[in-house]
Amino acid sequence: MAKYIFVTGGVTSSLGKGIISASLAKLLQARGLKVTIQKFDPYINVDPGTLNPYEHGECYVTEDGAETDLDLGHYERFLNIFTSQANNVTTGKIYQTVINKEREGAYLGKTVQVIPHITDEIKRRMKLLGNEGYDIVITEIGGTVGDIESLPFIEAVRQLQWELEEEDCLVVHLTLVPYLKAAKELKTKPTQHSVKMMSENGVHPDIIVCRCERPLSIELRKKIALFCNVKTEAVIEAQDAASIYEVPLIMMREKLDVICLKKLNLTQYHEPELSKWKEFLDKLKYPKSKVNIGLIGKYIELQDAYKSILEAFVHAGAINECKVDVINIHSEFITESNVEEKLSNLDGLLVAPGFGHRGIEGKILAVKYARENKLPFFGICLGMQMSVIEFGRNVLNLQAHSTEMDPQCQDAVIDLMEEQKKVTAKGGTMRLGSYPCEIQAGSLAEAIYGSRSISERHRHRWEFNNKYLKQYEEAGMVASGVNPESKLVEIVELKNHPFFIGVQYHPELKSTVENPHPLFVHFVKAARDNADRHSAVKNPLLQSEMI
Ligand code: GLN
Repeated sequence: MAKYIFVTGGVTSSLGKGIISASLAKLLQARGLKVTIQKFDPYINVDPGTLNPYEHGECYVTEDGAETDLDLGHYERFLNIFTSQANNVTTGKIYQTVINKEREGAYLGKTVQVIPHITDEIKRRMKLLGNEGYDIVITEIGGTVGDIESLPFIEAVRQLQWELEEEDCLVVHLTLVPYLKAAKELKTKPTQHSVKMMSENGVHPDIIVCRCERPLSIELRKKIALFCNVKTEAVIEAQDAASIYEVPLIMMREKLDVICLKKLNLTQYHEPELSKWKEFLDKLKYPKSKVNIGLIGKYIELQDAYKSILEAFVHAGAINECKVDVINIHSEFITESNVEEKLSNLDGLLVAPGFGHRGIEGKILAVKYARENKLPFFGICLGMQMSVIEFGRNVLNLQAHSTEMDPQCQDAVIDLMEEQKKVTAKGGTMRLGSYPCEIQAGSLAEAIYGSRSISERHRHRWEFNNKYLKQYEEAGMVASGVNPESKLVEIVELKNHPFFIGVQYHPELKSTVENPHPLFVHFVKAARDNADRHSAVKNPLLQSEMI
């Protein structure tokens, strides 16, 4: 039977509950336990698929096509496992299930209420993955303790604590211990208040993880322990780290995993096996080279909008022992007259996924620059579609566009997928999740993947219009990856270019610390080769040495 760890947050949002949960899970996994993590979000949207990135950052897609919270990306990247529909539950999903059941008459005339019906459904979902053979299920409760909308989730945890054996569950509370400059002190009062508030709701934390900017002295740990009714050893310091990937080691030093195992009465485990993880961190910390990669998108000011892409660059950079500096370039402000100035110092260019009209002409100009100047290019989803439009316009002399932006365009080289034409509802209706792709022999894609058949995750409605395929291939843009059944084009690449590849899917979603995605790995390599070539041209001495 699985044991349950609940992770709650206090004082403020954005404390990094996802990273703490993933780090704890990593340590337990490294000790030989089978662990998964799930996230319960208190908002009423059924899933974050309909939320724009300004609201919620990136929408992370699982193998089975769930549109989920970006924390699931952290879980997969840390644990190197797949998550699924079951790993992300929202208030919207809970109510939808309960209301559907009510309409079916399943409650037999009873009044349907938050307690017990909503909390029963929350508990059912909290325990769902517990039947899948995991030793430990970690449940991260979104939001902050004290929010009205979090209450049913906290109440469900309270009830579960009574239903489960004492040694089968525990609560970790992540809180903020702010440093007050004027007082030159860390302050524990907000933590005391948030624990008090949680206790009023009937849930008492077993472990308190304190996010802080300065070291947490033993005196302060004792003070928090005294006021919050936990053991001193259960007060954990979580100082700001240079990289999220250092947090598991920081938590190991603080013995977060050991304290959990003790409370859960788990004795069958070994010392954490983290050699691969440490090797990765070493490479990350001591790079031997550096590249500048331009990220062309329209949500550039938002850290979280391209989360998985940025993390995939961290993984790919480390394995190449190369620091990847991602230069954010707003596609809306790229014009014909400034494109050279904005892009000429780059070693590689990634055109980001996206929806809608805003900023796409800038993306097309950026693709043109990369194609003409032999700059390594990587287009993802909308980025791939923009590379197709650019090639259509500037090489094939078509009036090329996508019907997403211009439904009346003359050459709809990117068109709505057939099965999308009758779809009107927005939520969960895109082409989502994992689909197979067959790769052409001798292509760049084959060299990158080292395989002729792959599968990757999708989130889109438009596609390459196969009516134009022959024309494109004859002119040098080939479809090197195609879905074996539907024949949808999944990968395009240019023949006469050192590295130019566009993919209809989202490779960034499958990059993990232990398995960096080959497309990112090779793209960074191509960018580094490009940088080397440039410095050789600038420095003829180096050039002769290279020859
Ligand atoms: N808007 C495009 C489509 O729906 C691309 C989507 C994306 O980049 N995720 O096909």
